[in-house]
Amino acid sequence: MTSAQDVLLQFQSQGMETCFHGRHIKPVIYAGLDGSNWRLKDYEARGGYQALRKVLGKDGGAGMTPDELIAEIKASGLRGRGGAGFPTGLKWSFMPKDAPQKYVVCNADEGEPGTFKDRDILMYNPHAVIEGMILGAYAMGASVGYNYIHGEIFQVYERFQEAIDEARAAGYLGANILGSGFDFQLHAHHGFGAYVCGEETALLESIEGKKGQPRFKPPFPAGVGLYGKPTTINNVETFASVPFILQMGAQAYLEIGKPNNGGAKIFSIQGDVERPGNYEVPLGTPFPVLLELAGGVRGGRKLKAVIPGGSSSPVLPAHIIMECTLDYDSLAQAGSMLGSGAVIVMDETRDMVEVLLRLSHFYMHESCGQCTPCREGTGWLWRLVKRIYHRRGRMEDIEVLDSVAQNIMGRTVCALGDAAAMPVRAMLRHFRHEFVEKIEAAQ
Ligand code: SF4
Repeated sequence: MTSAQDVLLQFQSQGMETCFHGRHIKPVIYAGLDGSNWRLKDYEARGGYQALRKVLGKDGGAGMTPDELIAEIKASGLRGRGGAGFPTGLKWSFMPKDAPQKYVVCNADEGEPGTFKDRDILMYNPHAVIEGMILGAYAMGASVGYNYIHGEIFQVYERFQEAIDEARAAGYLGANILGSGFDFQLHAHHGFGAYVCGEETALLESIEGKKGQPRFKPPFPAGVGLYGKPTTINNVETFASVPFILQMGAQAYLEIGKPNNGGAKIFSIQGDVERPGNYEVPLGTPFPVLLELAGGVRGGRKLKAVIPGGSSSPVLPAHIIMECTLDYDSLAQAGSMLGSGAVIVMDETRDMVEVLLRLSHFYMHESCGQCTPCREGTGWLWRLVKRIYHRRGRMEDIEVLDSVAQNIMGRTVCALGDAAAMPVRAMLRHFRHEFVEKIEAAQ
C-alpha cells in the first residue's frame, strides 16, 4: 500500500513540465502545485478564477452564454474521468432548460480499490474543483451544488470546506457572483465509506439522508435527480479540468491527448512498481512510458499483468498491456477499460487466483443486496474462488465460476454486478491455467 507521503512525492514531481522519451509531459491540473499551495491566493496567482471571470464577462470581454460554454466543453473532447468516460459537454446538454430548480453534484466518493487521485486534487487544488463546479452550474442553469466526499477521508472534506469558505468570502460563491446576477451555493457533504455510494443514484439517495442504494433507471438524474429535480453528476477530475479548458481553449486541450480522447489524465499507478503515485500524463501515453515514470517493475522483476482502470476493469497480461496506449479507445480495444485510471501492476510472482480471491471478497462485501444476481452471485463467486485457492476445487468449478459471472452481467440495477463479474471472466480468459493448476494440485 502506498503511503500518503509516497503519493505526495510523486504528485510533487509531476507539478513540473518534463520531457520523457521525446514526449512533452505538461501537467494541467497539477501544474505549478508543490503540495502546500492550495489556498485561494495561490490558485489566483496561477490564473485561478480567470476562466469564471471570462465566462461572466468580468475580464472586459463579452462573456459566454451557457450554450457557448457547453459547446466549448464538447469541443475539448473532455470525457468523464470517474470511470464511464461519457462526453462531459454532451452530458451537460441533457439538462432541461426550463426547470426552476436544478443541481450539480461532484462525485468525490472515490472508493474503487486502487484509485487515489481525486483525494489529491481535493487536497492540493480544491479551488480548481470549485471553479469547475461553478462553471458547470452556470452552463446548466443550476443554483445549488454538492460535493459528496468519501467518508473515510475526512481531512479532505475539511480541506474542501475551508476552500469553499475562502471562495464564498471572495465573492466566487453565493448570491450575485462577481456582480453578474448569477447565484450558486455550494456545499460539502461527506458519506460514510460505502463503495456503492459512488454509483450516482446511490450517492443522491445518500445526500437525501436515505440508505445509499442505487435507483432503478430510467428516469435518469438529468430528468429526476436530487430531491426529484434535474441533476448532473460529474467526477472530481472532470470538474477540475473545466477551468483549464477555458483558459487554454478547447482545441489546445483536445490536442494534448488524441482524437476522441482529449486532454490529460491522472493515473494512480501502484502495486509492484518502484515509485507508486499519481502521474498526470496526456491521454494516449503508451503504457510503458507510465511504467517507466513509476520506476519500472519493483526489484527488476518481470511484468505479469496489469489491471488498468481500477479493480473492476478486466486484467490484461503483460504482452497485451505493453502494446496499449492509455486512453479510452485503446484499452477498450484490448478488452479492458480506462475506468478511473487506477493502474494496478503485478509482477511475475503474483498468484492470480489469490488476486481474484481478494477482489471477489471486496465486491461481495460491498454489494448493497438490493437485487438477487448481485447479492447472491457475488457470494457464489467468492466461495468458488476461495475453494479453488485453498485447493479444494473441482474442475467443473471453473465453468460454474464463468457461468455465474456471465449471469450476473447486465441483470442488475447498477454496475456493481458487472464490476464483480468482469474481473472473474478476464482472469479465466487470460490465466485459466493457474486455476487449473490449483485444482489439479487438489486431486
Ligand atoms: Fe445493489 Fe449490487 Fe444490485 Fe447494485 S447490482 S443495486 S450493488 S445489489
